[in-house]
Amino acid sequence: MNEYNKLIISLSEKYRENTAANLSRLVRIKSMSGKEAEVAAALKSMMEEEGFDEVFTDPLGNVVGRIGNGKKKVAFDGHIDTVDTGSLSNWSFDPFSGEIKDGYVYGRGSVDQKGGVASFVTAGRILKETGLGKDMTVHFVGSVMEEDCDGLCWKYIIEEDGIKPDVVVSTEPTNLNLYIGQRGRMEIAVEFFGLSAHGSAPERGDNAIYMASRAALKVEKLNESLPSDPFLGKGSVTISEIVSGSPSLCAVADYARIHLDRRLTWGETKKSALDEITALIRGMKAKACILSYKEKAYTGLEYGMEKYYPTWKMPEEHFYVNAGKEAFNRVFKKESRPGKWTFSTNGVVINGVYGIPVIGFGPGNEIFAHAPDEKVPVDDLVSASAFYAAFIATLSERK
Ligand SMILES: [Zn+2]
Repeated sequence: MNEYNKLIISLSEKYRENTAANLSRLVRIKSMSGKEAEVAAALKSMMEEEGFDEVFTDPLGNVVGRIGNGKKKVAFDGHIDTVDTGSLSNWSFDPFSGEIKDGYVYGRGSVDQKGGVASFVTAGRILKETGLGKDMTVHFVGSVMEEDCDGLCWKYIIEEDGIKPDVVVSTEPTNLNLYIGQRGRMEIAVEFFGLSAHGSAPERGDNAIYMASRAALKVEKLNESLPSDPFLGKGSVTISEIVSGSPSLCAVADYARIHLDRRLTWGETKKSALDEITALIRGMKAKACILSYKEKAYTGLEYGMEKYYPTWKMPEEHFYVNAGKEAFNRVFKKESRPGKWTFSTNGVVINGVYGIPVIGFGPGNEIFAHAPDEKVPVDDLVSASAFYAAFIATLSERK
């Protein structure tokens, strides 16, 4: 064990420059959701260069590398799409320079989350070189469309590619901590149906905007009363948009719609959250529904799902959480204290829907996700590549 441990750490260090250069190469390619063609091709050739046993791109555009062919199935997941830059005036450097300087790699996606991808590519190289994991099937997935619809890519991988791992390591940024859960979320729309009348005689109509406003104030109250979980925190709801319709600006509005961003804590479900909203609009001419996502991938394939992203958390004493703790201990020589993401990840589908165990470990601090001046420490990339290889080493000893 110690021997492998030393070897993993020294190899991750040896490939430091290479890992940073791979990340820089990925960052230089702009890759917003649904537009990942170029970055996917780059990742595919990167895995081929590093000697993976097989690399393919699935019909949705996910890039899947494989090492080993054994019974135990492990997957590393990192999405290769990013959000846009936002106003360039908030950036003090070019978001797509991919510059490596002063111990950092700079640019959009360096933290969220191409850094995790570059790190697992190096981990794959370490596995090949040491022979670790050859008794397992280890998949390395560069997934697509995550920023628009978290988990959709994994619905495809599980249902259509037929890849069902025993455990998935999400490489979203965790600031080098072990993460084991997150709140879920869902998007709900409520439509209000009023009656239009001439604006000069509003008493003849029924104003849908007033209905929506009364409901909106109830939503504000509902937010205060939502349950909390000691680990994941409180459920929440907020209104992100209100839209209305009227035959004219001189008429009573006969249509309104509010859009709810609902975050779900432990124990809250699609049904419980929808029931609350239905109760709140009882007696109104209104209808609540869960929204759906359906978009074209860069491959041209159209795919979608309901915008319900279930809450998930792993028991602290779970076999794979313990294996994660052990790998952490091997790399950092200290105990880990498992934490959680504030944002949402592909774990909502992998664990939330399909019940496949998920743990998270990734380079970079999540405060840089979707923010200007995004950058990741090269030291983090080195530690992450060591952790991923150490996780495989731990599992091969724990059979
Ligand atoms: Zn992300």
